[in-house]
Amino acid sequence: MSVLPIRVYPDPALKEQAAPVEQLDYNIKKLIENMGETMFAAQGVGLAAPQVGESCRVIVIYLPEKKDFSSYMALINPEIISAEGEVVAEEGCLSARNYRAQVKRAQALKVCYLNDKGAPCELTARDLLARVLQHEIDHLNGILFFERLSRIKRDLIRNRLRKLAKAAAVD
Ligand SMILES: [Zn+2]
Repeated sequence: MSVLPIRVYPDPALKEQAAPVEQLDYNIKKLIENMGETMFAAQGVGLAAPQVGESCRVIVIYLPEKKDFSSYMALINPEIISAEGEVVAEEGCLSARNYRAQVKRAQALKVCYLNDKGAPCELTARDLLARVLQHEIDHLNGILFFERLSRIKRDLIRNRLRKLAKAAAVD
């Protein structure tokens, strides 16, 4: 297993529509393991493949009830099949590290996906888990959390992140 570098905004990999996984082969299994490792190293609660530069529909989610390095779940080709309620709460992103914002999300949802064995599954989630799922599935569609904000707030965060990226490139 290895920790992969996390792409940060405005990396173009974050803007792509990720491709569905056609075959659960060795490369995808390896990617899932590395994504789990990378999420823990970064102390994140979720990670999507485009964040490590892989344009495929794979996400990993941290499961707090387990306490070791196996405590994550992989969802392949996840799709939201129903959503209800609305809740505003603070969110951040490993690809936009210094920014957090209040984002409106569905409160509960049902997601279908393939698990890491390739079996079709369904999951009902609420509150934090539902929020993490929406955030990560957005990544698969090239959407970052601040793009869900009002235009003024969105542009403010975008501009600051672009400046930070420029400053980092100069260093
Ligand atoms: Zn994110």
